[in-house]
Amino acid sequence: LPALTEDDATAKALGYVEDTTKVDAAKYPNHKNDQNCANCNLAQAAQADGRHPCSIFPGKSVAANGWCATWVKKVG
Ligand code: SF4
Repeated sequence: LPALTEDDATAKALGYVEDTTKVDAAKYPNHKNDQNCANCNLAQAAQADGRHPCSIFPGKSVAANGWCATWVKKVG
């Protein structure tokens, strides 16, 4: 799937960034730098390019080290 961009309207609304360490801490005080798309329960297995399909962003792929406000710890 093609890469989601930070300029995408939904991405902006959810504070999506390609680098979890760049999250606005003032806006998202519960964010931690060890939270990323690769360990999010809403991500699917990595594509060949290392990016992940994500159920929040259909038709797009997110960065393994990305993050958005709907991050949920991966179970299992
Ligand atoms: Fe990344 Fe999870 Fe947000 Fe999808 S829901 S963009 S996998 S943090």
